[in-house]
Amino acid sequence: MIELAFKDQVVIVTGSSSGIGRACAVHFGNNGAHVVVNYSSNAAEGQQVVDEIRSNGGTAILVKADVSKEEEVKALFSQTINEFGRLDILVSNAGLQKDAPFLEMTLEQWQKVIDVNLTGQFLACREAARQFIAQTKTTTETTHSELAVGKIVLMSSVHDVIPWAGHVNYAASKGGIMMFMKSISQELAPHKIRVNSVSPGAIKTPINQEVWSDPDKYKDLLQLIPYKRIGTAQDVAKAVAWLASDDSDYVNGETLYIDGGMTLYPEFADNG
Ligand code: NAP
Repeated sequence: MIELAFKDQVVIVTGSSSGIGRACAVHFGNNGAHVVVNYSSNAAEGQQVVDEIRSNGGTAILVKADVSKEEEVKALFSQTINEFGRLDILVSNAGLQKDAPFLEMTLEQWQKVIDVNLTGQFLACREAARQFIAQTKTTTETTHSELAVGKIVLMSSVHDVIPWAGHVNYAASKGGIMMFMKSISQELAPHKIRVNSVSPGAIKTPINQEVWSDPDKYKDLLQLIPYKRIGTAQDVAKAVAWLASDDSDYVNGETLYIDGGMTLYPEFADNG
């Protein structure tokens, strides 16, 4: 019998009622993990993800929590521990866009994106790290593995390096994740906690439906992608799973770009 890659590991995927988070949750569930599916507003979609994991033979629970609210994040983690007794992996994925030209961007639009995309990752990663350290201290095992005791994967974006006019709140939040991830990675490595990011390019999800559902905009989008296809949520989920697995045990503080080459300056492909 083939051993499932994440057998009996406990994983929280924030924002897993849709898109990339959903694909991550299903992938972990299909590979033996106990999955905590999190959403903030769309309970019906969250329940569909739980149902899909269970119908594939996996284990999952649904927990509502707005990642930008400290008490709700704490409750998300305590519900996880009450249900499964431990935590092995956090995929800090929840995120959104509130687009506007810079000159017209309201403080509310700015603040909402920073609150969810950046502060939300701070809150979730802090709770995960606290839990990893607490459960290491209370473990009764006498032999300790050399492998990581906890893994965190943050959802960034190619816009942690590609500036994005009209989306300055989003780009600032993802640029912030880059340095946040590297700094906590440095700080948590001595605790044997690994922290890495993935930075997707254009992935076909509801967040950018307005682009891929319009043939002209989709054609323009492909100009930015040397590999000439839009990404799928599964493309990202497989990379997240690798970073959360022991196969990447010596990878720490890195950002993995999953973008079909979007960060390769495609404008220079024909000699610039
Ligand atoms: P999506 O389909 O719109 O999914 C977003 C998810 O985040 C939903 O499950 C949503 O749940 C959840 N969410 C939003 N606000 C939340 C909050 N305050 N607390 C908890 N959950 C919240 O978008 P996606 O494309 O999968 O995006 C997921 C992540 O990938 C984001 O961080 C995004 O920046 C990043 N990303 C996406 C792309 C892309 O091309 N799609 C590219 C690069 C990076 P509710 O609906 O219940 O609120």
